[in-house]
Amino acid sequence: MNVVATKPVGEIKQMGHVDVLIVGAGISGIDAAYYLQKDMPGKSFKLLDALESFGGTWRSHVYPGIRSDSDLFTFGFGWKLWSGPPIATADEILAYLEEAIDEQDIAKHIQYQTKVRTASWSSADKKWTVISERLDSGELESYTTDFMWMCQGYYEHKKGFTPVWPGMENFKGQIIHPQAWPEDLDYKDKNIVVIGSGATAATIVPAMADDAKHITVLQRSPTYMFAAPNRNDLVEQLRELDISPEWIHEIARKNVLYTSAKLIERCQSEPDVVKAELMAGVQQYLPEGYETDVHFNPKYKPWQQRIAFVPNGDLFQGIASGKASMVTDHIDHFTEKGILTKSGKELEADIIISATGLNMLLLGGIEFDLDGELVDFSKTVAYRGVMFSGVPNLCWVFGYFRAASWTMRADLVSELMIRIFQHMEEKGVSVVTPELRKEDADIKLGPWVDPEVFNPGYLQRSLHLMPKQGDRQPWLFTQDYWDEKEAFPKANLDDGLNYR
Ligand SMILES: Cc1cc2nc3c(=O)[nH]c(=O)nc-3n(C[C@H](O)[C@H](O)[C@H](O)COP(=O)(O)OP(=O)(O)OC[C@H]3O[C@@H](n4cnc5c(N)ncnc54)[C@H](O)[C@@H]3O)c2cc1C
Repeated sequence: MNVVATKPVGEIKQMGHVDVLIVGAGISGIDAAYYLQKDMPGKSFKLLDALESFGGTWRSHVYPGIRSDSDLFTFGFGWKLWSGPPIATADEILAYLEEAIDEQDIAKHIQYQTKVRTASWSSADKKWTVISERLDSGELESYTTDFMWMCQGYYEHKKGFTPVWPGMENFKGQIIHPQAWPEDLDYKDKNIVVIGSGATAATIVPAMADDAKHITVLQRSPTYMFAAPNRNDLVEQLRELDISPEWIHEIARKNVLYTSAKLIERCQSEPDVVKAELMAGVQQYLPEGYETDVHFNPKYKPWQQRIAFVPNGDLFQGIASGKASMVTDHIDHFTEKGILTKSGKELEADIIISATGLNMLLLGGIEFDLDGELVDFSKTVAYRGVMFSGVPNLCWVFGYFRAASWTMRADLVSELMIRIFQHMEEKGVSVVTPELRKEDADIKLGPWVDPEVFNPGYLQRSLHLMPKQGDRQPWLFTQDYWDEKEAFPKANLDDGLNYR
């Protein structure tokens, strides 16, 4: 049965037409605007964002110590130099993005506090009608657009993922998710338990350790961690040699990507050796006899989940000084005073931080319909992990999760989309739709991201909602920068894409 779309009701202000509508003014949206402006100067465009300002993730996350775990030479844009330390705080990233917006004169195209609710494609008019809501006034607005460039990220900004544990309601202290950090949280001299040991926990713990009485990290199973100084020695040396900033930026990017490629190769060819090296790297910061084997010895293969980078080993310094400690155990239930673990340990806490990850959200929670029929994206097949079979004039910037940064893919997707726009102009057409070819009759479909490649909990929980990938090009989504950087520029744009 076809599911029919319902539209927001009430008075709707008509805002006119733009050639391209970008949803999201985070890293991906700013990148898309840069490429459109540079390569398609004739196209009008607008960015809509629900937040009160630019930056997406880096504005909505305000927990103590919030920082990147990718280096900014590659997490930053290819087209704007980064000159700070490799790992950057949210404030440093926002300052960089603000400069990028100013230099490229993008601000005039952005409208904030505007949440896109629905998008309806009309085959007759060959355009989308988008209805959005002003979060400051509740007013509904409507735009028409030829193309939707979706840069709304991959997770629900409103609310993080907190599992339900028995007895939570009995706990007398505060339970906080890092995504909803209370501005006025007073944790001085308090006992804190952080549940989870991913990148967020690795960031929060050292940032809070000095002021808290004690912080315990309670993890079900360990995460790979990589400790190193927050410095790129090659960059430092090039600076001393007075090499130009442009060259340094380019060399730093190549250096980071080369090092990552080598590490992935080694993770695949000698996972046990890499694992031993990562564990030894952690051990060097910890006192002799520390149970590294218990707390820093993950069950999965290195790189199946993101390796948490610990700049200057700050997390381990906290453990070594006695301000922080690790417990690897399962939660049995919450008590009035804290958490009782399955092995019978009682962890007392004034504050419990649930660093348990995020909820994925498909395309910003926007309801899409084609001529009135709702789109079920889980029934579509992704064209190179960018566009979706049967869905015209829409792309989604979904970056890299592991080895390369998110932004490295945002750049590749932008370049591919610009090629597609230019191809459409040459052909004199205005609609592009991915469609399976005759030879795809026997295509085998698999999950959006192969769990062998990357399998964190938030992705596993949502895979059933996500588009599928096929077993051949152009329907693969490899999450492999080195593969896509060769394949995207050479892609035959008449293969798997229909134009009219
Ligand atoms: C804490 C944290 C740290 C991370 N660190 C790294 C890292 O070091 N390296 C890395 O590669 N990746 C990292 N990531 C992944 C990260 O989200 C991306 O790298 C990057 O910031 C995503 O940028 P984006 O612009 O695509 O999306 P986002 O930053 O998620 O921005 C999307 C924007 O779209 C807006 N939006 C969404 N839906 C709608 C709607 N319906 N209407 C209007 N606006 C909407 C949102 O308000 C938001 O401003 C991290 C993620 C988190 C949560």
